[in-house]
Amino acid sequence: MSAMIINGTEIAQQLRIDVTKEVAERVQAGKPKPGLATVLVGDNPASHVYVRSKQKACAEAGIDSFGFDLPASASQQEIQDLVKKLNDDPKVNGILVQLPLPKGLDEEGVLSAIRLEKDVDGFHPINIGRLAQKGRDPLFVPCTPSGCMLLLEKFMPQIEGKNAVVLGRSNIVGMPVALLLVRANATVTICHSRSTDLPEIIRQADILIAAVGRPEMVRGDWLKPGSVIIDVGINRVDDASKPKGYRLVGDVNYQEALEVAGAITPVPGGVGPMTIAMLLKNTLTASKIAND
Ligand code: NDP
Repeated sequence: MSAMIINGTEIAQQLRIDVTKEVAERVQAGKPKPGLATVLVGDNPASHVYVRSKQKACAEAGIDSFGFDLPASASQQEIQDLVKKLNDDPKVNGILVQLPLPKGLDEEGVLSAIRLEKDVDGFHPINIGRLAQKGRDPLFVPCTPSGCMLLLEKFMPQIEGKNAVVLGRSNIVGMPVALLLVRANATVTICHSRSTDLPEIIRQADILIAAVGRPEMVRGDWLKPGSVIIDVGINRVDDASKPKGYRLVGDVNYQEALEVAGAITPVPGGVGPMTIAMLLKNTLTASKIAND
């Protein structure tokens, strides 16, 4: 048996084409261009790369982006003052504060300062709280988790009643994706570093979302035959045969999983491209909230 490969690059590209088209139509109809403000604090190299690629993606979709780079020495007050200014700027529909913030800053304080209608990353405590509550709907859902769900739904239209295991419970991936699975009526088990007997738990999973950041930790014989595997992990492993001296792998051993799973996302080219596509979609939604 060889699993179907869930091509996140293709699915994300289609999403980006749809967003670009809708943005162009709206501008043609006289609506303002959507705008995204990015706030980058400090000089974490990975954060710089992520923010630049988000800005580039905005430009390609016809969305304005406004970059604000603050030094690592920026105070809590300075960051929150900037956020407040962006809350009041009508050209800014979405505000993205790149995480993690430098040590010593109160992340929740900054995220709480973002106006709910501009919280395109979906990390405002009220949006996350609504995600966790029955009968309440967040205005925005975090981008990587909603990207995971979109990939999953394409290959498993009926999620209701399925056993789902989420490996990882971080604020940005594991926990929100688990909440989304609960909302989709799956039976959800969340595993983390204190969980025991992971292989046994994962063998029950019709759906596995792996978000641990441990290279190829999940082995093929941990998987239920025919299951759908969404591998969020992006890990570097040394590889002298590659020009950069490393290659990227997921949290699941891909070659082994191909023999057992029904469908699987590759790394790279699975969940990764979905995050930016969902951010563009959320920014378009924020623009509609502001202007329609
Ligand atoms: P975190 O480090 O914040 O969280 C990791 C989670 O995995 C924690 O809940 C931790 O448990 C759990 N964990 C760690 N080791 C083990 C273990 N041996 N067994 C079981 N559970 C374990 O990571 P993130 O959620 O931020 O990211 C996870 C992965 O996803 C990373 O590889 C990251 O690069 C990738 N990622 C990809 C994105 C994309 O595709 N766009 C976006 C974001 C992340 P505990 O809570 O007990 O510490």
